[in-house]
Amino acid sequence: MVLKSLQINGFKSFADKTTIDFGTGITGVIGPNGSGKSNLTEAVRWVMGEQSVKSLRGERMQDIIFAGSDTRPPLSRAEVTLTFDNKKRDLNWDHDEVTVQRRLFRDGESEFLINGRKLRLKDVANLFLDAGLGRHSLTIISQGNVEAIFGNKPEARRFLIEEPAGVAGFKLKKQQAQQQ
Ligand code: ATP
Ligand code: MG
Repeated sequence: MVLKSLQINGFKSFADKTTIDFGTGITGVIGPNGSGKSNLTEAVRWVMGEQSVKSLRGERMQDIIFAGSDTRPPLSRAEVTLTFDNKKRDLNWDHDEVTVQRRLFRDGESEFLINGRKLRLKDVANLFLDAGLGRHSLTIISQGNVEAIFGNKPEARRFLIEEPAGVAGFKLKKQQAQQQ
């Protein structure tokens, strides 16, 4: 799976529309303390469906919207977009390019879109789980998480392995089927 770009607009410290194009190979992000490196990874987790406000270092979900600075007023919405090259159909979506977008407005209204189509959080979660990716997956390890992983109970650690292996998606579908 190839992540082509990340676009952030109004998420945390990213008040201006910011696009990061990922080339081939490894991308490193460097910058002084407080410059927004962690905010970047949080933006990725958020657009992939992160629902834990605490793990986004906030108290309410709206805390992820740019809150204003000495020189700029607060914004009314946050938007993050991931663009994938899907020529190999790593994502179960019949397009060569897939964009996944999440928006949140200050009144609490939120939206998920895949290729511009409004869908549910569940659809976005399934799209990534089927591809062995997910918001809890080992593909994103945040600051402080390494210790948490080693300190975890075995069952919790197993989940971290099941998600990239694609097992978590099956388990979720089984659970959903059983509830119906
Ligand atoms: P470190 O090297 O210390 O880990 P970092 O580069 O990871 O730093 P972040 O934690 O990503 O930095 O960024 C923190 C900055 O983001 C702080 O200055 C904080 O004020 C700002 N910030 C967080 N939420 C918002 C928000 N809603 N609106 C505006 N700025 C925000
Ligand atoms: Mg950081």
